[in-house]
Amino acid sequence: MDERRIAARFAGFDQDGNGYIDREDFYVAAKALLAEFGVAARSERGQALFAGAEAFWQGMAGIADVDGDQRVTREEFVTGAVKRLRDNPDRFAEIARPFLRGAMAVADAEGDGVTSDTGRRILGVFGVEPDVAQAAVDALDADASGRISEDAAVRAFARYFTVPE
Ligand code: CA
Ligand code: CA
Repeated sequence: MDERRIAARFAGFDQDGNGYIDREDFYVAAKALLAEFGVAARSERGQALFAGAEAFWQGMAGIADVDGDQRVTREEFVTGAVKRLRDNPDRFAEIARPFLRGAMAVADAEGDGVTSDTGRRILGVFGVEPDVAQAAVDALDADASGRISEDAAVRAFARYFTVPE
C-alpha cells in the first residue's frame, strides 16, 4: 500500500477533523456509537466500549506517536503505520480488537449477533461512505450467514490497512 492511500485512512481516524489523531477522536467515535444505538455511557457495554477506545488509542499512540506528544500527526501516521504494517500486520489489527468487540456489543442489543444492516450502521457512525460500508459488510459476511463475527471484523480491519482497494 502506498503512503497516499494510508494517508487517506488517516481521515477515518481523525473523527473530529482537527488534523491530528488523539484520544479524543476515539472517544468521539465511542460516544457517537452509544448515541446511535441508545446505550448509556455508564452501562456495562458503554464502559467496555470506552475501555476498548482507550486501548485502541494507546495502541495507535504506541505505533505512531513518534515524538510522544499524545497527538498523531498525518506524517507520524503515515510513517508509523507503514513501518508497523511491514513488521507485523496482525499485531496492528489486534490493537483494534477490544474496540471492535465493544462496538459490536453496543450495536447488538438482542445479543444474537451483528447483522449486515447493523454493520453498515456502525460504519456509517464512523463516517464510512455507504458504498464502502456495503462492500465491507459483504466481505465480512463472506459465508452469507447473515451475521458478522468478531474475528471477521478484526481481519477486515487488517485488510483495510494492508490491501489496496
Ligand atoms: Ca482529531
Ligand atoms: Ca506526535
